[in-house]
Order: sequence, then structure tokens, then C-alpha cells
Amino acid sequence: QATRTQDAIALVESSTAHNYHPLPVVVAEAEGAWVTDVEGRRYLDFLAAYSAVNFGHRHPDIVAAVKEQLDRVTLTSRAFHHDVLGPFARELADLAGKELVLPMNTGAEAVETGLKVARKWGYEVKGVPVDQATIIVAEGNFHGRTISVVSFSTDPVARTHFGPFTPGFRVVPYGDAAAMAAAIDDTTVAVLIEPVQGEAGVVVPPAGYLAEVRRLCDERQVLFVADEIQSGLGRTGTTFACEHEGVVPDLYLLGKALGGGVVPVSAVVGDSDVLGVIHPGEHGSTFGGNPLACAAGRAVVAMLSTGQWQRAAVELGAHLHARLSGLIGRGVVEVRGRGLWAGVDINPELMSGREACEALLGEGILVKDTHGSTIRFAPPLVVTRDEIDLAVDALGRVLAAR
Ligand code: PLP
Repeated sequence: QATRTQDAIALVESSTAHNYHPLPVVVAEAEGAWVTDVEGRRYLDFLAAYSAVNFGHRHPDIVAAVKEQLDRVTLTSRAFHHDVLGPFARELADLAGKELVLPMNTGAEAVETGLKVARKWGYEVKGVPVDQATIIVAEGNFHGRTISVVSFSTDPVARTHFGPFTPGFRVVPYGDAAAMAAAIDDTTVAVLIEPVQGEAGVVVPPAGYLAEVRRLCDERQVLFVADEIQSGLGRTGTTFACEHEGVVPDLYLLGKALGGGVVPVSAVVGDSDVLGVIHPGEHGSTFGGNPLACAAGRAVVAMLSTGQWQRAAVELGAHLHARLSGLIGRGVVEVRGRGLWAGVDINPELMSGREACEALLGEGILVKDTHGSTIRFAPPLVVTRDEIDLAVDALGRVLAAR
């Protein structure tokens, strides 16, 4: 007799394209750092939807803001004004210390928008000859799944049979400022960098790298475009991960947690000398900046404005890293990360990352592997020290069982 879990998974398998390989758990409800599956089993969520659920599942402030908006107006398109976009954009721009916001929906759309803005700025402000613009990106990058974005991915799985690709990108090793300097020429309009590479396995660049990239960009009249879609909005212990090196990029790309884990919300945030190159008709999105998205975004920005979430990420992150480091030599090879965000490399001779995640699922902990033997720990910022202990103890047990 098939269980409810098996039935639910079978329906998904027979009805959807197989573009993901989820762990065999079917979530029915969630609150804070916890989810409950269709059989009533509870799990600690240590992935937090790749940081889209930074504030915990169904945070009451965000849910209240969205419910209130649901009863007023949900969509106008940008053909008309609505009364939530202005306040959301002003508050988000102020949080980032910038002048303007260009609202979109998903992370990949924010990245595409950033690339388009950078190219247009390059032609109209920097004076790059038309159709010659280049943008420099880093090896191991993850910026989304559109054709242009996978055009500069270095992951063969993301690229194979999706060509022909968009030209105009140069790839340099991540964390190597000298390589970046050598790659910049008169056609370079932007560098696009994750301040911490998330999907690559929570890779923190060497100290001084982001500051040096900022210096190079200033010297060579190049835009610094920071993809903070996963690293931003509290996760690393600061509002933006660039702050760890005192760096202010020209454009912030934001997404994931900006929608409070309720609706997809993304944005490009920058000053008018850059975002001002976009005029009516040149770029847009039917749902971008919709009232529901803006209501969720306003609640998120208000929460981040107190500094409380960033402090929580610092304190809880120190505990998470201390506890995970205690497993080095006991099945764990390396722990990387910043704030409440860790990439844990396990000994591949013991088991694969996938096997470890399946074993942790059995222990009531939800995490996801990446690149074979790395496991990411990124719980919602509402997690407690005791819950971190539960997860790390479970990892210790799983690894000791081999
Ligand atoms: N950029 C970064 C750094 C990401 O981590 C992701 C998603 O994981 C994206 C962009 C793409 O976001 P989305 O999946 O919302 O398109």
C-alpha cells in the first residue's frame, strides 16, 4: 500500500518535467524554522528555500501585510500607477543607500535586467562602440537559468544543448583580482560577481578581493554589479554581503528573501546615473512591482531596517560555524561560509552529499547537497541555538554511522 508521500511524489513525477531531483519529503505546512509533511512528521528546515525564507516560514508581519493587500488590490500592471510601488521602492532604495529601484519578479530576471542596464550604460555613458560590450563574470558562478545567464555558466550541466549562447562575456577565476584586472579592457562595461558564491558551495572570496574589484572598477570606469540574490538581506550578518569589505556596488541584484518567502520579488537597485539609462518601453515585466509583491517587500525592508535580523545571523552563525567545525576530522573535511550560512564538505569516501541529505531527512533535518559532497546549512534566521545543535548533532550521527 502506497503512502501519502509516495502517492504525492508519483503524481509530481508523472505530471511535471524532471528539472529537479527533490528529496523524498512532501511538505504540507510550515511555520518558522519547521515544516510538517503530509504524514504529520516534522522537520527542521536548514535550507530555507535557498535563503528565500530568511525570516522563517509565514512570518506574521509578512503574512499580515500580504493578507491586507489581498483585500485591496493585487495587480494593475505598470500601465497604471498603484499606491504601494512608490513606498516600497523608496524604502528599499534607502535601505541600500541608493536612489532608484527597478522591480522584477525572479532572480534570473533581476540578473538579466542588470546585464541590460550595464550594456546600455556602457554604450550611452562610457562610450563603448555599439554591440562590443563585454561583461566579466567569475568561474563557478550561479546567476540563474535563462539563455543569457547560462551562456556564461561554467557548469556543463547548466549549458549542454542549450546553445547557441549569448556573446559578450568573459570568465575569470573567482577570488583572483589580478585575473580580473587583466580581463578588463575598453569594451568592459561591468563585472558581475556574487560576493559569496552560493551554489558553488558557499565560497567566500579571499579577504580584500571585493574591495580590490571595487577599486579596479573605479579606475577603469566599469560597473560593479553585485548579485546579492542569495547572499543579501541578512543571511551573512549584514544587510548586504558586500558590507563585509566596506564595498558599495553600482548595482545590487536582489531577489529571494525580498519576497519574504511569500511571493517572488526581485529588484535592481542603483543610482540614477546608471538606472537612468532605462526609458519607457525599453524594459519591463507585467508582474514586476505588483501591489502584492510590494506589500511583501515593504514588510521585509521594515524588518531589515531594525538590524535585529543581521545581528541574529552574526550570533547564530558563530554558533553554527563553531559546532560544524567541531566535526572536522570526524567525517567533515572543510567548513566555509559567513553568518548563518555554511558550506560543509563531507568526506566523499564515507558517502555522497545526496546520501548524507537523505540520512539527515531520516533524522528530521532538511538540507540539500551541491557539487557531489558539499552540504549547505542555511536555516531561517528565526532558528534557535538548540535547533542548530539538533541539526549539527544529527550530521555528526549520520557521518559516524559510516
Ligand atoms: N543569483 C543567485 C546568486 C542565485 O543564488 C540564484 C538562485 O539560486 C539566482 C540568481 C536565480 O534566482 P531565481 O531562481 O529566482 O531565478
